Amino acid sequence: MKLSAFGRKFTADAGITSLMDDLGNAMASGEDMIMMGGGNPGHIPEIQQRVQEVLANITKSDEDMRRLVGVYDPPQGEKQFIASLAALLNREYGWDLKPENIALTNGSQAAFFMLFNMFGGDYGDGHRKHILLPLAPEYIGYADAGIEPELFRAVRPDISFTDGHEFKYRVDFDAVEVTGETGAICVSRPTNPTGNVVTDEELGRLEELARQQNIPLIVDGAYGTPFPSLLFTEAHPTWNEQIILCLSLSKLGLPAARTGIVIAEESIIKALSGINAIMNLATGSFGAMLAEPLVRSGEILSLSRDVVCPFYKAKMEKAVAVFHEAMGEDTCRWYIHKPEGAMFLWLWFPDLPISSLELYQRLKARNVLVVSGHYFFPGLPEDDWRHRHECLRVTYSQDDERVAEGLRIIADEVKAVWAEQ
Ligand code: PLP
Repeated sequence: MKLSAFGRKFTADAGITSLMDDLGNAMASGEDMIMMGGGNPGHIPEIQQRVQEVLANITKSDEDMRRLVGVYDPPQGEKQFIASLAALLNREYGWDLKPENIALTNGSQAAFFMLFNMFGGDYGDGHRKHILLPLAPEYIGYADAGIEPELFRAVRPDISFTDGHEFKYRVDFDAVEVTGETGAICVSRPTNPTGNVVTDEELGRLEELARQQNIPLIVDGAYGTPFPSLLFTEAHPTWNEQIILCLSLSKLGLPAARTGIVIAEESIIKALSGINAIMNLATGSFGAMLAEPLVRSGEILSLSRDVVCPFYKAKMEKAVAVFHEAMGEDTCRWYIHKPEGAMFLWLWFPDLPISSLELYQRLKARNVLVVSGHYFFPGLPEDDWRHRHECLRVTYSQDDERVAEGLRIIADEVKAVWAEQ
């Protein structure tokens, strides 16, 4: 059947769909795959237990059960959750939020689709605006979210070496250009795929650039602050009317509840709610109702700080130690991006004789699934920058022993590639 331009755009071989297909097929292959490719959070017993308790309490009340499954919420999202969240953030950070500053979406992924197309594309006045990603590499999930083609413009990072086998990306402010054709700026903090955390100072400068053009700075806090806090470095939560802060309950441990949270100036929330009504009629209540008691009491912040963060930090430290031991000192050049947050190690093998995609395929043949780094440069023009074909994203959220086994196989395969030269 013939499809419209929209139909063709969203059925073309998008990076994220081919990646998801490949991961799905590998999982279904029956082989004993070591899964270090996806973004699934780990299962944290304390979180699971609290969610189970809340759910048990809901099921004891007919009224709560009716609210959980029997009513459509308004398109802005579940009212009680929104009121409790505004109160919590005002109490903790003095953000002066009203419920009109918060909307819920079916996962934050859906929020990005709406926001990118609200601020990027044809303005009908001769302007066609792009979404600026000031620090590539960035989250692959943004790449195909534009209804119009070529919605994103990305900027190469500044690379500094922070330790023997460690490097860090920073925003290259000399290369960042915010113009009348920029519709919004967007950064994930911490960043998927690298685990980088844009510093408070970098964020402040990006906000200033956004303010000068009167455009929003979209901060994707799916892993960040104030929750779920997969953060191993200092980073302060920031919100004001220049910022659209997107949060999510997924990485706290509720990815299946599909709950995204957008905190923004009232007119943006109103527009977003209108689009949400057309696309979804209403946002699902499940995640909001499960998390509301934790938000009302502030427990969501203490659980993030005292349970979720240490859980991932310990996994990160183990993964880094294993990889150091497996690679050793006297082999090829190798680096890990300073792991400051999220659930990934971003490995860089300078001058690797094969591309990261070929390395991915060789690892898949050894039953280790990772993601080739080349996917994570949406909006960066194709050029001969080798770096983007020299990196791998490795997820360490799953079982420590399996992650260690996978990392040893990666080290072994990289050494084998060099030995063949
Ligand atoms: N932002 C980042 C950086 C992510 O890694 C993800 C998912 O992995 C999302 C947003 C979307 O998450 P969700 O739709 O589950 O809220």
